[in-house]
Amino acid sequence: GKGIAVFTSGGDSQGMNAAVRAVVRMGIYLGCKVFFIKEGYQGMVDGGSNIVEANWSSVSSIIHKGGTVIGSARCKDFREREGRLKAAKNLLEKGITNLVVIGGDGSLTGANLFRQEWPSLLDELLNNGSITKEQREKYSHLHIAGLVGSIDNDFCGTDMTIGTDSALHRIIEAIDAIVSTAYSHQRTFIMEVMGRHCGYLAIVTALTSEADYVFCPEMPPPNDWPSKLCTKLEQERTAGQRLNIIIVAEGAIDREGQPITAEKVRQVVVDNLKQDTRITVLGHVQRGGSPSAFDRVLGCRMGAEAVMALMEATPETEACVVSLDGNQAVRLPLMECVEKTKAVAKAMADKQWDLAVKLRGRS
Ligand code: ADP
Repeated sequence: GKGIAVFTSGGDSQGMNAAVRAVVRMGIYLGCKVFFIKEGYQGMVDGGSNIVEANWSSVSSIIHKGGTVIGSARCKDFREREGRLKAAKNLLEKGITNLVVIGGDGSLTGANLFRQEWPSLLDELLNNGSITKEQREKYSHLHIAGLVGSIDNDFCGTDMTIGTDSALHRIIEAIDAIVSTAYSHQRTFIMEVMGRHCGYLAIVTALTSEADYVFCPEMPPPNDWPSKLCTKLEQERTAGQRLNIIIVAEGAIDREGQPITAEKVRQVVVDNLKQDTRITVLGHVQRGGSPSAFDRVLGCRMGAEAVMALMEATPETEACVVSLDGNQAVRLPLMECVEKTKAVAKAMADKQWDLAVKLRGRS
């Protein structure tokens, strides 16, 4: 059978374990030898006990766990060819020529580069005597399937990334809790949610918590936002609303590209309206806890589809990313999606907000 390895890289998210589980079980079911690589690219570069063969039961009792049980890391070594050469050697020792990478756009970019470089890495290993001619021929192609794990839903090409739905559950629980204790006082609450380049969490949170105002990176408010905000808050109070909610994405900015922080918003409210105003930064709570049913199913479907993609790959097949399109798991060209995702970030840096929203697409 083919040698497949699965690893998680970059930031963790809920539902990654479901994906790992599906890759292992689908792989074994189809007669492959499946390996875990622990600690992302670092484990691939370091090799040894970081690369272990998985069996059916080694992925029992992980689907309900948050984070990733096989560990994730950022890895400087893999950014250098020397590191990738070590990684290639370690994979070849186990007969691995198929990788399922679960991570963000950085991790997927690294995997694609590795795939492109693979033949020349093998030539170098052959030349320095690390591998045999037979190995060079047998393992001549590296196949890649990517899955996007990210709570931010910040990847172009997929409607939902693995972890976003669970993060929303966490945020909503936290806001509901705060609102229920705070109802007795007339207060304004400012909640900072994650999302450096993507306002998805902020927008959905605002909708589902009946927020009065939301700040997010792709849609900077008009320059007179302080007065618009205050007018809106006053209107709501006059209409009998006892508390106000303002959602701020961590990457929120104004039209000059300057950050709109929760603290800045608080100052505006306090200075103009003298309202009792509290800030809650939800932080890593959003990444924590158990994955939602949606993320478990998403991880399962995407993991299984990734293995199918690898099974069907030919030497000409480009690296793919498994995405959710409507309710369908589909395979898209990995680099096209990564480039589109980078184009969104660039459009925002260039203050081309409309273009950023358009490029972002449905998610
Ligand atoms: P994410 O995958 O969440 O976007 P990073 O951008 O930090 O997170 O990438 C995770 C890891 O992927 C990095 O620590 C590095 O090992 C690898 N990586 C990212 N970009 C590249 C690249 N251009 N070339 C090689 N490896 C990369």
